[in-house]
Amino acid sequence: MIGFILNIPYTFFGLLVGLVSIPESFKWRVNPYAVVIKVKRFWWTIGYMRHARAMTIGHAILLSHKIIDRDLEHEIVHVRQHERIPIIQPILYWVELLKKGYRNNKYEIEAYRVSGSKYKER
Ligand SMILES: [Zn+2]
Repeated sequence: MIGFILNIPYTFFGLLVGLVSIPESFKWRVNPYAVVIKVKRFWWTIGYMRHARAMTIGHAILLSHKIIDRDLEHEIVHVRQHERIPIIQPILYWVELLKKGYRNNKYEIEAYRVSGSKYKER
């Protein structure tokens, strides 16, 4: 719960991103605490994010129509990462992303491994 509280600013930002992405449904879940928002499209994405099927910002999980099996579980791992290292997790993620790219980012490796989700080129 403490992690959830400390991450509220990110979660709030995630809700805004969910609103911008044209939300279709909202669901609250526990263990870990998260708002799951089904959105129409990540129309605003650029670069490597263009093919994103889902994303997690704080404790907000955004799922697009492109999701495939285990994607929700993958995003839940990202929520747990936020819970484990509150406040600075997004910074650590971006440092890792800039150093190693998406595929070799240790937070993504963990999310794919734990969830059993699959990476697709697009
Ligand atoms: Zn991921």
